[in-house]
Amino acid sequence: MKIMKFGGTSVGKPERMHEVAKLITKDEEPKIVVLSALSGTTNSLVEISNSLAGGDRNLAKKQIETLQEHYHNFIGQLVKTDAALASAKNIVTEHFEFLNIILKISFSEALNKDILAQGELLSTKLFSVYLTEQAIDHALIPALDFMAIDADDEPQVASIKAKLDVVLERLKDKKIFITQGFICRNAKGEVDNLKRGGSDYSASLIAAAVNASVCEIWTDIDGMHNNDPRIVKKTFAIEQMSFDEAAELAYFGAKILHPASIWPAQFYKVPVKLLNTMQPDAKGTLITELAGSVGVKAIAAKDGITAIKIKSSRMLLAYGFLRKIFEVFEKHRTSIDMITTSEVGVSLTIDSDSSLPAIIQELEPFGTVEIDADQTIVSIVGNEITETKDVMEQIFKSLSGIPIRMVSYGGSSHNISILIPKNYKVQTLQLLNSGLFGLM
Ligand code: ADP
Ligand code: ASP
Ligand code: MG
Repeated sequence: MKIMKFGGTSVGKPERMHEVAKLITKDEEPKIVVLSALSGTTNSLVEISNSLAGGDRNLAKKQIETLQEHYHNFIGQLVKTDAALASAKNIVTEHFEFLNIILKISFSEALNKDILAQGELLSTKLFSVYLTEQAIDHALIPALDFMAIDADDEPQVASIKAKLDVVLERLKDKKIFITQGFICRNAKGEVDNLKRGGSDYSASLIAAAVNASVCEIWTDIDGMHNNDPRIVKKTFAIEQMSFDEAAELAYFGAKILHPASIWPAQFYKVPVKLLNTMQPDAKGTLITELAGSVGVKAIAAKDGITAIKIKSSRMLLAYGFLRKIFEVFEKHRTSIDMITTSEVGVSLTIDSDSSLPAIIQELEPFGTVEIDADQTIVSIVGNEITETKDVMEQIFKSLSGIPIRMVSYGGSSHNISILIPKNYKVQTLQLLNSGLFGLM
């Protein structure tokens, strides 16, 4: 069994969906096909939700109408026969009726999750109509029947497996299964999701649950590139990397993968392949336990970082100081990304400032607390890079004009991270591209 996940742009146009149908019928291996919402849909649903949360029902109504229009045009080109068009129309009507009903009821967080789930429900159902029209035998399996998160919002592979096994057992004669990425049920049984970009995570969890031969992530680029292609002009795809390297890159901003999507594949030893729907024959990136080579592989950047510095002479020769500081972050369920210490101070970074005022208040008794908002972590990732000759020298030489706020080196042998003010990000990524890869 293999997993094939197709992202928003891969299903975002009728002709792309037709291509996806070709890709999933290329070989005979049984497969679970995980689909995202059509590109732009989840963003639109977020906007609709925001309008409702802000009490602007008229705006929400207009946004729903615009989105519905988009789906009407989409299905007109997706299918040909009257029967298929009628089925597709019913599906669109059903989901937009739901969105119109929510205009009349009071907004809540649970309702927000229901709204966000509409995108993946629509894309998979419409794709299934197209497959049926093409006489491609398949089964649509609802992710809400098996994908789940626990009370801590964590998915548990064993429980997903138990539920998915039951679903698959009933459909033994089928070889192609279609399901939704992103959506799941929470511990209360409500509709929930795996956070933005979470379809990759769905794919990897399913791959772990069925012990898949490979987890293919099909997207709009030919694999993990050495630098952010949205920012830097000359980048190239990396053929092979380890799970550890991919996890660092995903966590530190390489949008091609959801940050959590590596651990299930790594833990259950399923190779991951990043492939391009628009260029299916390109090699892509293979991610396994093996790094393939030593040295710097790629650079990624993560915005929205807040740096916190706690200075105190009481830290001098004191033990237990760091523990007390970490406990504050633990209490507020806020994870720390980078940390550096000196004898009289500690600097650390967080990527969520939702509890920042409370955190500052509880840190103040330990010393002076200084905050720098709008920072960016730039991560240089590779295999054994901390042991690679001259890498630090190359980094610092390249960045001589950049105000570096923090450096993290040696935390793992795969990652060197630096913290810079966000307005230096573009320049930093470009300078590192030329300094480390010789590309302008
Ligand atoms: P999908 O909708 O298929 O999930 P995403 O937009 O989430 O696709 O991810 C693919 C995008 O990630 C690419 O179009 C690219 O712009 C962006 N990206 C950012 N960093 C990298 C990187 N290092 N390598 C490849 N793509 C990257
Ligand atoms: N549709 C969801 C999003 O846009 C999940 C995904 O595409 O991975 O975030
Ligand atoms: Mg994505």
